[in-house]
Amino acid sequence: MQPPEFPKGVGQLHRDDINWTDTGVFWADVCQTEEEGEVLSPRDHVPAFNPDKDSSSYDVVVVGAGYSGLSTARELAKACPSLSICLLEADYCGYGASARNSGFLNASCVYHDPHQLLKTLGVEKGKKVAEFARSSVQNVKDMIEENKIECDLDKDCGIAYPAIDDAQMKHAKEMAKAAEMLGSPSGEIWDEATAVEKLGSTLFKGAWLDPTGSHVNPFKLVRGLLKKTVLCHDNVNYFEHTRLAGYPRRAQKNKSTPVEGNGHSTSKPRRLLVPIETKERGQMEINADAVFLCTNAYSEGPLSKYYCPLHVYTIVTEPLSEKQLELLGKGKAGWYSLHHILFAFRRTADNRLLVSSGDVRYYRKDKRHVRNSPHTYQFLRDALAWFYPELANVAISNAWEGVVAGNFDDQPTVGRGSHPYTYHALGYAGHGVALANSIGKVLKDLYLQDTGELPKDEATKYTSLPFVCKKFYILMPGEPFRKLIDIAYVNILRWLDGFNNKRVARAERLEQAALSEKEGLLIPPRPKAPWATLANCCNDKAD
Ligand SMILES: Cc1cc2nc3c(=O)[nH]c(=O)nc-3n(C[C@H](O)[C@H](O)[C@H](O)COP(=O)(O)OP(=O)(O)OC[C@H]3O[C@@H](n4cnc5c(N)ncnc54)[C@H](O)[C@@H]3O)c2cc1C
Repeated sequence: MQPPEFPKGVGQLHRDDINWTDTGVFWADVCQTEEEGEVLSPRDHVPAFNPDKDSSSYDVVVVGAGYSGLSTARELAKACPSLSICLLEADYCGYGASARNSGFLNASCVYHDPHQLLKTLGVEKGKKVAEFARSSVQNVKDMIEENKIECDLDKDCGIAYPAIDDAQMKHAKEMAKAAEMLGSPSGEIWDEATAVEKLGSTLFKGAWLDPTGSHVNPFKLVRGLLKKTVLCHDNVNYFEHTRLAGYPRRAQKNKSTPVEGNGHSTSKPRRLLVPIETKERGQMEINADAVFLCTNAYSEGPLSKYYCPLHVYTIVTEPLSEKQLELLGKGKAGWYSLHHILFAFRRTADNRLLVSSGDVRYYRKDKRHVRNSPHTYQFLRDALAWFYPELANVAISNAWEGVVAGNFDDQPTVGRGSHPYTYHALGYAGHGVALANSIGKVLKDLYLQDTGELPKDEATKYTSLPFVCKKFYILMPGEPFRKLIDIAYVNILRWLDGFNNKRVARAERLEQAALSEKEGLLIPPRPKAPWATLANCCNDKAD
C-alpha cells in the first residue's frame, strides 16, 4: 500500500515508523494464520466470475463477503440445500469492515448501549433485541468452537466500560441496571481501585464489566467462516473481484431468462437481472430469483439513503514487553470508553495494544477509497499517551482505517428492497462483529416467508425483531446537507468529548498540585488530553 503523506506539524508520529503493509490492514498482513499448511491471506486467488465457465443463472445472489454476506449464504445453504447460491465479492473476503475492525465481540452496544436500548424500545421489545444480541455473540463463539476456527478468541475476558468522571460513572451504573432489566447478566460494577487495578489507567473512576463480551482476531474469523462454514456447502459458488455494478432489476415480461437450479422460479415473479463487473471482462449480467445486498458501508445506489459512511481509524503498537504489559492492568478485558465517540482499547494475542475510534470522519466521494488521516492517527497516539502516560513513547507499528455505516438511531437496517425478492442488511453502527454474523438468520426467514416455505403473515423469532422491515426510517439527506449535518453533528460530539477530557485533566492537575504541596512529592504531569482536530473536517481531503 502507498504510504500516505504526513503533513508537517501532525505531531511526533512519523509515516516512516509505520509499517504500511500490502493491504494496509494489520490483521490481514501481520496476523495471518497458518492452517492445514495454507496461509489464509487476501492474496489467495479466488477467481473472478468468468462467463465462459460459470453459470450466469442462480436461485439467489448474495453480494458482499463480509460477516453479513457470509452469514446469509451460510443460512440459505443450510436451510435450502438444493438452492444454487452465488456469492459475489468486489475485492476479497474481509476487504470491508469485517477485517478492519477492532475485534470486540459484544452484545451491549446495540442501539448504542443497554440503557439507550431500554429507553428507546421499552422492556418488552428491548428484551427481544438484547436476546438476539446475546445469542449472536454465542453464535459466533459456537461457530468458532464447532469449526475449530483459529482466531484468538479470548472467550471469557468480558468488555469493560470505564468512567473518567462521575457523570460517566453514573452512566456505567445505568448500563448495568438496564442490562439486567433486559435479561442480560448485569456484570460487575468496579470501584476506582478495581478499575485502575484491572485496566491500568489511573484516570479511571470506576467501570462496568459486561461479562458477555470478548475479543477475536477479525480477519482470521472472517476467513475461517468463509472456508469452514460457507465454502463447505456444495451449492455455494463464490467469486472474488466481481462487483455488483448496479441495483438489480426485473427482467422484461417477454424476455426469457434461463432457469437452472431447483426450479424455484416457477412460482415466482420475473427473474432479477443482476449487473456485475470484473476487471478482465468488464460489465455483464447474471440472473437470479432473489438478491441479498450485504455491502454495508460500501453500499451504493438506493441503499445509500439509510446510512452515512464514517471512516474509523486504528493504530497498534509494537509487541509490548512484560513490564509494559503490567501497565495495562491485571485484567484481560478490552475496554470501550464512555465518550460520545467512544475509544476502543484492547490487547492483541501477540501482546500489542490496539487503540481505535475516538473520532470519525466523513468524506463525500469514493466510498471504497482508503482514506488515511495522519491527524487522526496522531490523535489516537495522544489518547494512548493520556490514558497510559508510561507508554507514551512506545512505537506504533501499524495504522489503518475502515468504514462503518452510521445512522441516526444506531439500529441495523434490515428488510426487503424496492423490488420483490431483493433484501438488504446493513448499518450496525460500528458494532457488527456479533450481529452481522447472525443477520443471515433474519434474511433467510424473510426469503422463506416470500417463497411460502414459512407462513407469510406469521412473524418468526427473527422477522419480529423491532429493527426488521421497519415502516419508518430516519433517512440520510443528500449532499450538501449530509456533509453539513456531519460537520455540525460530529463536531458537537468532538467538542463535548474534548471539553470533558480537558476538564478531567484540569481536575487531576489541581489534585496533583495539592498533593505535591502537601507531601512534597514531584508528580510528573500527564500528557495533554486528546482533542480531535477539526483540521480539514470541512473539505473532502484525507488531511
Ligand atoms: C475500524 C472499525 C472498527 C470496528 N470495530 C468493531 C468492533 O470492535 N466490534 C464490532 O462489533 N464491530 C466493529 N466494527 C463494525 C464491524 O466491523 C461491522 O459492523 C461488520 O464487519 C459489518 O460486516 P458486513 O459484512 O455487513 O460489512 P463489510 O465487512 O463491510 O462487508 C461488505 C463487503 O461488501 C463488499 N462490497 C461492497 N460493495 C460491493 C459491490 N458493489 N459488489 C460486490 N461486493 C461489494 C465489500 O468489498 C465488503 O467486503 C468496526 C468497524 C470498523 C470500520
